[in-house]
Amino acid sequence: MAVVDRRTFWTKVLQDLGLIVLRTLNAYVAGLQEVNPLVQEPARTLERPPGALPEPEFLRRCTRCGDCSRFCHFAALRPDPDGLPWLWDPASHPCYRCEGFPCIAACSTGALSFRDRLLR
Ligand code: SF4
Ligand code: SF4
Repeated sequence: MAVVDRRTFWTKVLQDLGLIVLRTLNAYVAGLQEVNPLVQEPARTLERPPGALPEPEFLRRCTRCGDCSRFCHFAALRPDPDGLPWLWDPASHPCYRCEGFPCIAACSTGALSFRDRLLR
């Protein structure tokens, strides 16, 4: 019978415990998303600019003024076929999440908003 030293034993125990915690958390989050539709935003067909409200609210507020695109120094934003801004080609013109988010600051209607604390 193989003899396992104390350090190896406890390392294995901690790894297994970590895995169990991770799997439990994953299952919990998946369960939340299933039962509470508010946890999951409706799927977006287009990637909107940073700070965009959930799509239905965004569509209500955006006036297609184009100010967000004009203030984006990296040309990351363009109007989609309906004239609404979107990140048209993240591969060639990525969004750099600029300090102060000039695109959000330029939006006077609140369609783009700093409500998400990650954007501050
Ligand atoms: S964060 Fe910067 S790069 Fe990204 S869309 Fe706004 S202005 Fe453009
Ligand atoms: S600045 Fe705001 S209202 Fe104007 S196009 Fe951009 S998201 Fe829409």
